[in-house]
Amino acid sequence: MQADAAFAARREKAVIIAIAGTNGAGKDEAARYFVEKGFAHYSLSDVLRDIARSRKQEPTREVLQELGNMLRAEHGEAYLTKRVLKEAQGALDVVISSVRNLGELEPVKNTDGFKLLFIDAPVKLRFERAKSRGRIGEGLTLDEFTELERRELDAGEGKQNLDELRDAADAVIVNDGSIEELHEKVNRAVGDTGKRRRLSWDEYFMQIARQVATRSTCDRKRCGAVLVRDRVILSTGYNGSISGTPHCDDVGHMIDNGHCVRTIHAEMNAIAQAAKNGVNINGATLYVTASPCWECFKVLANAGIRRICFGEFYRNERVLEAAKQIGMEMVDLSKALNGPHPE
Ligand SMILES: [Zn+2]
Ligand SMILES: [Zn+2]
Repeated sequence: MQADAAFAARREKAVIIAIAGTNGAGKDEAARYFVEKGFAHYSLSDVLRDIARSRKQEPTREVLQELGNMLRAEHGEAYLTKRVLKEAQGALDVVISSVRNLGELEPVKNTDGFKLLFIDAPVKLRFERAKSRGRIGEGLTLDEFTELERRELDAGEGKQNLDELRDAADAVIVNDGSIEELHEKVNRAVGDTGKRRRLSWDEYFMQIARQVATRSTCDRKRCGAVLVRDRVILSTGYNGSISGTPHCDDVGHMIDNGHCVRTIHAEMNAIAQAAKNGVNINGATLYVTASPCWECFKVLANAGIRRICFGEFYRNERVLEAAKQIGMEMVDLSKALNGPHPE
């Protein structure tokens, strides 16, 4: 039966795919194809560009080069990849493109189901493609294009090392045909890993909690919470100030003993929303982007929450101990990506 086959084909766990390759080989198209399959796409060069913008720097080639070198020197070769993992934390399948050297793959290369694809094409074909897309100057010859590439490979610190990536790749794909042929080659290279994956219920509600967190109004930590029973959402909450009073993001924090005390925590707001609407939350599961603080935990426990799924552990061992004592289940979803996580 087709429905059963489709169900059996579904993967249980999220995977990470990395894409590297030569200029104009079709790396973007390969990444786009994974997005069609439900992967979240992160380009390491876009991540670097975003960092430049957040530092109010114009992301020119020189600025990016310098910034990249500085970040690598300060935080290690894999800094950009770690940023991506942190952002994608939990749940989703991820495709990472613009990988420049093996060092950048250190945090992900040993994760379950990980695959590195190297996309290549004959230089003449790549030259024609780059030209037709206006990526290279008019009048540039094939020889000059080749020379330009060679120089890019010797760009100094944290340099591109395509040879080592090609050697380490799970598959080298030569994209010398149509887009459809490229897709077919990609499918063959990744096998079941490339099949569309349906989120588990835990992942699904955690993704919603992450979305809720984006409404938070205190940038010291943006948190989201969703209360669920029998796969139905009972209420949601994010950390923000008392309704009708100014937001941290607008007027700054209200610091007391090193903590911002202006906001009501996401979990408390979820409980408050339920109370306001007369919704019974006894026996519910809480999905929260960061594990609860001690104050919130106490209220959650007495409000009858029986299970807490968190997207990241937020430094409170006391909570874990108390949860054990009262038989509350604590589920760490930060490991949903199956791999080592930064911080
Ligand atoms: Zn604040
Ligand atoms: Zn709290």
